[in-house]
Amino acid sequence: MTQPLLSIDDLHKSYGSEEVLEGVGLEMDQGDVTVLIGPSGSGKSTLLRCVNRLTEINSGRIALDGEDVTGADTDVNELRKQVGMVFQDFNLFAHLTALENVTLGPKKVLGMDAADAEAAGRTHLEQVGLLEQADSYPAELSGGQKQRVGIARALAMDPELLLFDEPTSALDPELVGEVVEVMRDLAAEGITMLVVSHEMDFARSAASDIVFLDDGEVVEHGPPEQLFQNPTADRTEQFLSRLH
Ligand code: ADP
Ligand code: MG
Repeated sequence: MTQPLLSIDDLHKSYGSEEVLEGVGLEMDQGDVTVLIGPSGSGKSTLLRCVNRLTEINSGRIALDGEDVTGADTDVNELRKQVGMVFQDFNLFAHLTALENVTLGPKKVLGMDAADAEAAGRTHLEQVGLLEQADSYPAELSGGQKQRVGIARALAMDPELLLFDEPTSALDPELVGEVVEVMRDLAAEGITMLVVSHEMDFARSAASDIVFLDDGEVVEHGPPEQLFQNPTADRTEQFLSRLH
């Protein structure tokens, strides 16, 4: 049996006295696209942030390729090379061009030389359909273009796992499609993705699994056809009925 790429077991996380994740378990194999859905405040962002150590867990286990990544001896910089993140609000550097945003990590963190990083960066911008905007600054780009630069930047680190935290929820509705299309392409290429999103078209067409999180617990986990058409928990059904 091959070992899962990501394995989360009995994860507990509190902020002060508020327990936000109450024993979460989740496994992903290489190439899986897992879409995490759930009400606001259910702990979705916190779960992603635990995986790349933007926040520390209280107890439980998170393993990447079988290696625990929550210990004091884990090299967090090494972990973040392997686990990329795409943020809701893009988090681009305003004073850098699209290409410079994409090449910064490979140069600074991976130690690539400038010419190699630039060539790779152009390839990644092309992958998200933005080669022509390589020299544009974030202020000159639409929200959808900014987010596509955010995705290219994450791809440039060649991560094993990509985390997306509501990548389209800061966008005007007419700009959502171009970002979803890029994400769908990545999914089809076999990139392993853990995606917090309520874009149900994406979830239906690209997800291998849907996880419904409510109140810090995984209420239901299954392939999209099962979870959308035959949810087993009342809470899942209620949540889905409120989405559309
Ligand atoms: P979601 O992404 O599903 O909306 P979050 O993971 O952001 O949920 O938040 C889960 C709960 O944790 C919420 O009650 C939120 O207020 C709380 N929370 C999130 N981040 C922090 C933080 N840095 N400090 C204190 N409480 C937080
Ligand atoms: Mg969130």
